[in-house]
Amino acid sequence: MKLILLGAPGAGKGTVAKLLTAIDGSVQISTGDILRGAVKAGSDLGKEAQGYMDRGDLVPDSLIMGIMGDRLQEPDCAGGFLLDGFPRTIPQAEALTELLTKLDIKLDMVVSIEVPRDVIFDRLCTRRTCENSDCQEIYNIKSMPSKVEGICDKCGSAIVQRADETEEAIGHRLDTYNDKTAPLAGFYEKSGLLKPVTGTSSDAVVSAIKAELNI
Ligand code: ADP
Ligand code: ZN
Repeated sequence: MKLILLGAPGAGKGTVAKLLTAIDGSVQISTGDILRGAVKAGSDLGKEAQGYMDRGDLVPDSLIMGIMGDRLQEPDCAGGFLLDGFPRTIPQAEALTELLTKLDIKLDMVVSIEVPRDVIFDRLCTRRTCENSDCQEIYNIKSMPSKVEGICDKCGSAIVQRADETEEAIGHRLDTYNDKTAPLAGFYEKSGLLKPVTGTSSDAVVSAIKAELNI
């Protein structure tokens, strides 16, 4: 399947993407994971992106399009992909449309995962992430704790609170989402690709997507 997952930070895009990869082997492409990996590795991309990310600001469109232009041409994308956290602005969506046309790729659907702001805020404040950049498994201290506190079940690395998951940065990320990313729903509605789904549980979102795609 070739999907875009839209939704606020904390709406569950990453969790839904991981569940979907298990269905048909489509790859999850998370620009946030790619950027955090670059910051950890100390690459030029990471150095450029870090300040924006720590403040909860968006990284410039040109950087993101550079990453995605390369990523979508890697061979594993031929079997399907789930875009998680991209596009995030109207210019990114327009550039993506052009890129997909050039690569002769057709999207199946744009899923908008809709979750109330208070639920999101609460989820993000209690979210923790594995610090191993090759893993980045997500936990929640209230609803999905690791078996051993502070240690990732999957890889044994430390589980940490992200720098952009302080209350202040979270508030700023949600405002940025409303300003810059929420308008993408209208953009994709016009192209007939939009499928809004209420995101109370990730399993329910996955079921709705499967039903829509007849799989
Ligand atoms: P979340 O969805 O929880 O906000 P992500 O892991 O998707 O977190 O992104 C973390 C940060 O990485 C964002 O706050 C932003 O700084 C940067 N980022 C990720 N994807 C994009 C994008 N498509 N455009 C601009 N910045 C991005
Ligand atoms: Zn891990």
